[in-house]
Amino acid sequence: MEQKALSCPICQSNKAEMIGKSVKLAGEFENKEFLTTPMTVLRCVKCGFYMMFDNSAEFTTKEDL
Ligand SMILES: [Zn+2]
Repeated sequence: MEQKALSCPICQSNKAEMIGKSVKLAGEFENKEFLTTPMTVLRCVKCGFYMMFDNSAEFTTKEDL
């Protein structure tokens, strides 16, 4: 699984796994359906917090080995 360098807002972990790229989220609000723009979804490997970013966001790969 691809890992990116970033900081989790919950636990400050800098490890997250890529859940999906160009993910569109659909839902309902006040009886109207909506569909978001494509987003990159990452999940913190430490606490499981989901982070969503605009598709234009770029992440630097960090090598810890
Ligand atoms: Zn976290």
